[in-house]
Amino acid sequence: MSMNNQGRPTGTGTSGFASTSGSSMLPNEPLLFEIGDTEHSGVDLPDAKISNARLGGFERKLPLDLAGLTEPEAMRHYVRLSRLNHSIDSGMYPLGSCTMKHNPRLNEKMARLPGFADIHPLQPVSTVQGALELMNELSHWLMTLTNTAAVALSPKAGAHGELLGMMAIKAAQEAAGQGHRKIVLVPESAHGTNPATAAFLGYSVKAIPARTDGTVDVQAVKDALSPEVAAIMLTNPNTCGLFEPQVIEIAKAIHDAGAFFYCDGANFNAIMGVVRPGDLGIDAMHINLHKTFSTPHGGGGPGAGPVVLSAALAPFAPVPFVRKGDKGLELVEHTQTGALGRITAFQGQMGMYVRALTYMLSHGGDGLAQAAEDAVLNANYIKARLEHVFSVPFTDYPTMHEALFDDSFLDGTGVTTLDFAKALIDEGFHPMTMYFPLVVHGAMLIEPTESESKQTLDRFCDVMEELALDAKAGNSERFTAAPLNAPRRRLDETRAARSPILKWERPDDLPQAAE
Ligand SMILES: *Cc1c(COP(=O)(O)O)cnc(C)c1O
Repeated sequence: MSMNNQGRPTGTGTSGFASTSGSSMLPNEPLLFEIGDTEHSGVDLPDAKISNARLGGFERKLPLDLAGLTEPEAMRHYVRLSRLNHSIDSGMYPLGSCTMKHNPRLNEKMARLPGFADIHPLQPVSTVQGALELMNELSHWLMTLTNTAAVALSPKAGAHGELLGMMAIKAAQEAAGQGHRKIVLVPESAHGTNPATAAFLGYSVKAIPARTDGTVDVQAVKDALSPEVAAIMLTNPNTCGLFEPQVIEIAKAIHDAGAFFYCDGANFNAIMGVVRPGDLGIDAMHINLHKTFSTPHGGGGPGAGPVVLSAALAPFAPVPFVRKGDKGLELVEHTQTGALGRITAFQGQMGMYVRALTYMLSHGGDGLAQAAEDAVLNANYIKARLEHVFSVPFTDYPTMHEALFDDSFLDGTGVTTLDFAKALIDEGFHPMTMYFPLVVHGAMLIEPTESESKQTLDRFCDVMEELALDAKAGNSERFTAAPLNAPRRRLDETRAARSPILKWERPDDLPQAAE
């Protein structure tokens, strides 16, 4: 089977499938349409006896264009595809900032309980009191862990939570006659979603430089403040893996200038149970349940990025939210106050709420603190084991939950950060985060999380060490040619992101299915 330059099999037709049977690691997986064909259905249905006339002329005239597959064919296709991907269940996934934790099976068991899994958002609330109680309990944990006044559970991801938090800030300022504030301060080390969120809401973004030690320049924040500034969006611990030492001073300066403090809480896993962000002066912060609280990434989207809000922003929380009423718990769908309305359909991702609360209850408050401390310990272990071969850009502070290296150790080797990461694939590890944060040249950001044992960390460090020494020894082909052992070699990632082919088009030479 040959590959065209989009990384898709070519010339397979339906027969190409046969050549791949029996292999557990398939080099190529045909499309559903190349396995089945659009002229047959995978199931036998009796002819409909209802007259077409009842459809009022809306009956389909064109072929359905669905691949006709049997259930085992469809299932095997997706199982084979899943084996082509690296996953947290098959190996270490040290992707910095993304916090790829183990997803405990207990979470999955709880999420499948019929009282949570088999309910419908339009059911009468009297029949879903248990589910509402779970949402209420999760809200309580999130507000307690952060020391905040309110929480909006419904945003579907961290980026969506950022949007909601900044919308709440905008609404609060408009209500206070401060709608003219149009500038949002964003440190240079921020995740791209921060400036994107601010720009999406019509703010202009002002970048705040990082100091040479990797932390935010407090004086630069103070110098940038004016009556035009609406908010700062600051990540803490920041994306260099450092706890911002002057975060309280920054919060005070922001508030004194009449602005709000949006905290990007993607790295909350490093401090949960140890530091309450509300005590640092934050006004809004999203919590990525798929990072901090071990719910799965992917598989239809991360699912849930709740936002905690300070007392000043609580009146601007979106609907719906859970409240204790005369007849038990109720889902408040409308309010007269400044609420933003809703940000998602229904109440958000119930399945993720169940998994996150399961993680919280199975750890307890002290167990969450221990998990944060173990995540920090693991990252510091990696840094300590590798800093004699790798170059460390920031050395003034101990690292939090992730270890950051730059590419200066590769100087003169002809190997880039990208090549190095690709070589890790051949060793069975998912690459670390590359070229982020942008403030570090050729950044490699490694986050082991608390999930990994010392044995796994040692194996990872052994491989990293061996690769670094090999690069320095001049064996650059091992890196520039990598990956050799993956189902795909180097892809045109920019093109894949910019012009993805998401829809199957009927090739001209295929016959039209019978109507
Ligand atoms: C992951 C992440 C985000 C975005 O979160 P999503 O849930 O992926 O939308 C924002 N900021 C930082 C620092 C992150 O690591």
